Amino acid sequence: MKRRELIHLAGIALAGKVLGQPSRALASGTRQRVIIIGAGISGLAAATRLNELGYNVTILESRNRLGGRIWTNDQWPKSPVDLGASWIHGVIGNPITAIAKAAGARTVTTRSDSDVIYGKDGKIITPKQESRIDELSAIINRSIRISQNANRDRSILETVRSAVKWDQLSGEDRSWVDYIINTNIEQEYAGSAADTSTYWFDSDLAFKGQDVLLPDGYQTLTTHLAKGLDILTGTTVTEVAWNLGGVSVTTNHGVIQADRVVITLPLGVLKANKVRFNHGLPAAKQKAIQVLGMGLLNKCFLRFPKVFWAADHDWLQSIGPVPGLWAEWVSYARPLGMPILVGFNAADVAKVVETWSDRKTVDSAMETLRRIYGSGIPDPVDYQITRWAADPFSLGSYSFNALGSQPGMRDDLAQRIDNRVFFAGEATDRKYFGTVHGAYLSGIRVADEISAIA
Ligand SMILES: Cc1cc2nc3c(=O)[nH]c(=O)nc-3n(C[C@H](O)[C@H](O)[C@H](O)COP(=O)(O)OP(=O)(O)OC[C@H]3O[C@@H](n4cnc5c(N)ncnc54)[C@H](O)[C@@H]3O)c2cc1C
Repeated sequence: MKRRELIHLAGIALAGKVLGQPSRALASGTRQRVIIIGAGISGLAAATRLNELGYNVTILESRNRLGGRIWTNDQWPKSPVDLGASWIHGVIGNPITAIAKAAGARTVTTRSDSDVIYGKDGKIITPKQESRIDELSAIINRSIRISQNANRDRSILETVRSAVKWDQLSGEDRSWVDYIINTNIEQEYAGSAADTSTYWFDSDLAFKGQDVLLPDGYQTLTTHLAKGLDILTGTTVTEVAWNLGGVSVTTNHGVIQADRVVITLPLGVLKANKVRFNHGLPAAKQKAIQVLGMGLLNKCFLRFPKVFWAADHDWLQSIGPVPGLWAEWVSYARPLGMPILVGFNAADVAKVVETWSDRKTVDSAMETLRRIYGSGIPDPVDYQITRWAADPFSLGSYSFNALGSQPGMRDDLAQRIDNRVFFAGEATDRKYFGTVHGAYLSGIRVADEISAIA
């Protein structure tokens, strides 16, 4: 046993006060104590299930709010906006639908087929241009399917560029190809096409049914799940130690001990080694952390004095001079009755925009809108901008299957250690990674794993 572990497991409060005592569950029959790191949806799901099963559960959460990558900001009266997740993707059979119902949350459908595409000149693309985009999309889709059976994996960018014979394409065709890659893959999976695996990028599954927004914010669901749970916010974990007798978790407020610990740290946080594990992590888990990708999707909410855009469309797409820059917009006019446009940037473009000041970001977004709707449109009365890559407790938006990774690596990430240290979170879910429902299901999985062994 290493020295640091001896110190921790002896319950010595060198790092501060001891916040909790390990239960003597196995010896005395008292309730087993489980620490869950992270009050995102996966941690809340695990805690709820374990609570129901009679465990003594405490969640440690670094932020001063719950929800993690579910983050509703209600600074705009009557217009709460979701800075992280906003849709329940596919409502049929989706466990999040049931939670929304139980929470009494209102939902409203957005129609992904209700879109309009604007070209470089700011005008709606012509039927001829649209059919060229369809033609190129068919070539790209076919080449991806073929490449998924090739004997070597390649990045999406390499696959697509070789399929369309990029070197011989006109400038206009190139911008259509960039648009197709951005809108279908980067905006969806959040990884750069240059880093995304052709073999595995779409190895995830989806629930059927419509996509719905939550007009009162996604936090309605996390608040509902958190009812009755013991959650310590403002508590950042820096080290996890374990041995055969229990676990010891070091935080900024001291050491806390338990029988088991569930780690729901985002992949970005694991990649950055923000939390030390006293025995290190098994090689397969380390490899998964290193090779799976952490993608980036950012939003910019612009609130206007009135609606001036094509409000009958839920999605506005822009093919501008810079590929991917403000390429997708969602209008809150029809679904939510609000004069709000949400501009999205993904992957490499998002990384660049994230370094800009608020002023530069809003100016750049407005430049795109003015190209489309003219110089007479009003300035926004307010804005909200996300910067998920810089967020120290997320370090990215959600995971994707990077070149070199395989779906089995998510199982490695999910693998428990010594029946003491358990792992959940969206990145551990092989079927539904990158989503709220995937994260939720991973929390349920881990709770069931714990209850099965003890
Ligand atoms: C911009 C954006 C848009 C998205 N859109 C959608 C969508 O529309 N639909 C959808 O289904 N999914 C969407 N997602 C993905 C979805 O939000 C995530 O997959 C899901 O919320 C992840 O939940 P989680 O519990 O795995 O992780 P998290 O929610 O990140 O929870 C982990 C928690 O751990 C905490 N933590 C981190 N470090 C420490 C530490 N050292 N000590 C203690 N606590 C720590 C964090 O603060 C966080 O609360 C989106 C994500 C983003 C960022």
